[in-house]
Amino acid sequence: MIYACEACKFLFEKYDEEGRCPDCGKMSVRLANEDEIKEYNNRYPDKKNNNYDNMK
Ligand SMILES: [Zn+2]
Repeated sequence: MIYACEACKFLFEKYDEEGRCPDCGKMSVRLANEDEIKEYNNRYPDKKNNNYDNMK
């Protein structure tokens, strides 16, 4: 799953058990939306990750 931080817009795949953003440490983490997933995959083309496949 790809997550986004509301506070700093950081995109990442996992967060720690407390749900904190690994970049800014705030609790403003939510699931990434479609645009953010595209952006993430553009940034890391090797991973080919998206939230939809992971939900199956
Ligand atoms: Zn953040």
